[in-house]
Amino acid sequence: MTTRNLFDLTGRTALVTGSTRGLGRAIAEGFAAAGAALVINGRDPNKTEAAAQEMRDAGMTVRAAAFDVTDEKAVEAVFRDLDAEGIEIDILVNNAGIQHRQPMVELALADWQRVIDTNLTSAFLLGREAAKRMIPRGRGKVINIGSLTSELARATVIPYTVAKGGIRLLTKGMAAEWTPHGIQANAIGPGYMLTEMNEALTSNPDFDAWVKGRTPAGRWGRPDELVGTAIYLASDASNYVSGQLIFVDGGMISVL
Ligand code: NDP
Repeated sequence: MTTRNLFDLTGRTALVTGSTRGLGRAIAEGFAAAGAALVINGRDPNKTEAAAQEMRDAGMTVRAAAFDVTDEKAVEAVFRDLDAEGIEIDILVNNAGIQHRQPMVELALADWQRVIDTNLTSAFLLGREAAKRMIPRGRGKVINIGSLTSELARATVIPYTVAKGGIRLLTKGMAAEWTPHGIQANAIGPGYMLTEMNEALTSNPDFDAWVKGRTPAGRWGRPDELVGTAIYLASDASNYVSGQLIFVDGGMISVL
């Protein structure tokens, strides 16, 4: 019986998209605490480098990679750059996402497309490049960030719901294709979390009361509360788990 720490990420490198702030940043910092080196990402080069520097100042090993996750050529170029630098991605977290609230009858095609591309197509683009490199190595972890809306629809966020529902089946598809090669693909479905994305909602007293009233935990989630699940899915502790979606939602999906 081994006594090694199943959750240890020492020697692994994790690429977390959308990790300059919010849930992605918390996940990245959690991975670093478990021993991983990081590649962090956002669209803006200055903000991404500033976040990377803050993390380095806190003792983490961090490379900044500013690119738009919806841009196929940019995604391919980043993986080629990492190859050239000898950086192998052991853990990919497809976290970058955007929200857009509007009734469907008013929704422009461009907004529909932008939400689908950022929240869903990005996971295909990043997953494809990562898996091309993980498959020959015979190991790797892919974690896709879903949502409560991976499971159910809500008014005014239909493209987001469609994208997050797609994440659920994309994760199962990745598991079907890649688990035979030693790669586990899983998803996390956060509940209502305190991040910039939800600023308009947390400052709306009616919405705030609705979240607190409908969440069995009685409160919003904090970004750091995703970290344990993310480390579990990134580590050897989950080596026989693939294709799953784990909700981290204070119990909300069970009662909505
Ligand atoms: P934030 O808005 O706080 O952060 C989003 C991050 O993604 C930022 O780092 C942003 O950087 C980056 N980003 C956005 N678009 C792109 C892009 N096209 N290319 C690269 N980076 C991009 O969001 P959260 O932390 O709240 O959300 C993170 C994920 O969790 C999303 O997928 C979201 O859908 C999901 N989620 C969030 C919930 C919540 O309650 N907060 C609940 C359920 C799911 P920049 O703008 O500089 O590019």
